[in-house]
Amino acid sequence: MNLRKTGAAAALVAVLALTASACGDDDGDSGSSGSGDGGKKITVGIKYDQPGIGLKEPDGSFSGMDVEVAKYVAKELGYDEKNIEFKETKSADRETALQNGDVDFIVASYSINDERKQKVDFAGPYFLAHQDLLIRADDNIAAGEDLNGKKLCSVTGSTSAQNVKTKIAPEAQLVERGGYSECISALQSKVVDALTTDNSILAGYAAQDQYKGKFKLAGLSLSNENYGIGTKKGSELTAKINTALEKMVDDGTWQKVMDETFGPANYQFEPAPAIGQLK
Ligand code: GLU
Repeated sequence: MNLRKTGAAAALVAVLALTASACGDDDGDSGSSGSGDGGKKITVGIKYDQPGIGLKEPDGSFSGMDVEVAKYVAKELGYDEKNIEFKETKSADRETALQNGDVDFIVASYSINDERKQKVDFAGPYFLAHQDLLIRADDNIAAGEDLNGKKLCSVTGSTSAQNVKTKIAPEAQLVERGGYSECISALQSKVVDALTTDNSILAGYAAQDQYKGKFKLAGLSLSNENYGIGTKKGSELTAKINTALEKMVDDGTWQKVMDETFGPANYQFEPAPAIGQLK
């Protein structure tokens, strides 16, 4: 009996050793951080419908600068790209997804603000955007106040919708949708006069082949949107993600990713912000 037990234990040790070495090989150079435990998965919240930011492509792959930032950070945390599980986190669902532990961190055009900081933590900022308007190409809107009385689409749970109500145009007729792609459809079918959110997101839509020449950005800077990486309150990941973000800027990857992403859209993005400094 004892012998059998010992044999089983030895076999188990052998299996564990094999697993460990296999994972080590898989992990390549990122294995040294140790926190990824080889085949262990990490779940990252992103957007699925924002071209240039976070987009699920028809073939099931993901593109956009948030996706690239997420991959870089995950690698620095010790997770291979194939061990990242992306999950859609719509604007209104982000805090809950983190609080419930549905995702480990969120990279989804997620602005840092005091209200959200009561519920979740943020690493970053890693990007600075500004709220602007997307309008039909033959329209003109010179200032936020011009929107009073007009129909304006934005997304539930976003700072963009909040800003319209509290600051930019309290008299505008705000139409709220679950995602920006639904607002684009509303703009196209003239259900609304404008779509408002971050210029980074709007530039991505305007650059899409199917919308070229149809829509334009108004070119307003209605707010500062400091994008952070959301984590669960008290998470030990936050400090590690900050280290990863700093490295991404220092080694030139940040600039490369932003140039490649926003170059074709002709969007003049702001330089990389310093970690911990909000504008
Ligand atoms: N950055 C803004 C926000 O966090 C708008 C973009 C979004 O909804 O993801 O609310």
